[in-house]
Amino acid sequence: MKVRTRFAPSPTGHMHLGNLWIAFLNWLWTRQQGGTVILRIEDIDRDRCREEYVRGIENDLAWMGLDYDEGPGKTGPYGSAVQSERYDIYRQILSRMEKEGAIYPCYCSRSRIHQVLSAPHEGEERPVYDGHCRNLTAEERARMTKQPCWRLRMEDGSVSFRDLFLGTVTRHLKAGADDFVVRRADGLVAYQLAVSIDDGQMGVTHVFRGNDLLDSTPYQAFLIRKLGYPVPVYGHLPLLVDTRGIRLSKRQQGITIEELRNRGSRPEDLIGLLLYLAGGLSEPRSVSLKEALEHFPFEKLTALHKKHIVLPVS
Ligand code: GLU
Ligand code: ZN
Repeated sequence: MKVRTRFAPSPTGHMHLGNLWIAFLNWLWTRQQGGTVILRIEDIDRDRCREEYVRGIENDLAWMGLDYDEGPGKTGPYGSAVQSERYDIYRQILSRMEKEGAIYPCYCSRSRIHQVLSAPHEGEERPVYDGHCRNLTAEERARMTKQPCWRLRMEDGSVSFRDLFLGTVTRHLKAGADDFVVRRADGLVAYQLAVSIDDGQMGVTHVFRGNDLLDSTPYQAFLIRKLGYPVPVYGHLPLLVDTRGIRLSKRQQGITIEELRNRGSRPEDLIGLLLYLAGGLSEPRSVSLKEALEHFPFEKLTALHKKHIVLPVS
């Protein structure tokens, strides 16, 4: 099986070390396996995304030498890797799911959903829906005036996926409670659906991303399987945090790659720093990409099993 992976940034800001960490590890592993790297631009939420950030991401990756085989300007066998150019695929799949009854319209008001979500649910840590609109009749639907969002009709059962660091992860999913939104009331495809369709339809075999997305993975694995695609293997990576424990991406002015470049950092300095953080070096030093590829097997990077990794500088 040929390995296919993706780095999937949302172009809502400049690329920082936290993004580069994921991009680099994904690239390193994939290239060591002789696989295909996809750069997928997750820009369905047009209000939050900017073209300038897409250019920035391309620029930073090119400067680092982290090349990709499919991405903006390089359409692969499964179509564009830019989500805003993939609406037709999403629409087709949504209409198929509607015909099959796999999704249903939900007319609940914002305040009703708010009430449901804030009610105590024993043993539940994630948002739960109460399935209110699951079984509306055709007449009841016809009487509604509000634009609905659409939810997945979940089945009771469990879903499992494999993670390179966590082993097999199994989660129970409940009909109703876990009926998550796949299409928003404003017509936008929900993030959860776009990611699942893309990972499935683009033949992604391994998903490397931050472990902050771990709670979404059971939903995505369920959906990918339901759509008839093989579920990828996951590699949920530790997040980089600053010395106060704050995630780099959450900080307003995290250290962007552009800033580091302007301050005189070279790509090999950043690679050395990332390898050090990953447990591959006892102290940071300059490492070329070629050396990283040949002498730093991904499997030997010991810190990747951690929950988070503290970046010792500000
Ligand atoms: N676009 C998401 C983000 O930038 C990542 C999605 C993923 O890797 O699955 O947070
Ligand atoms: Zn509802």
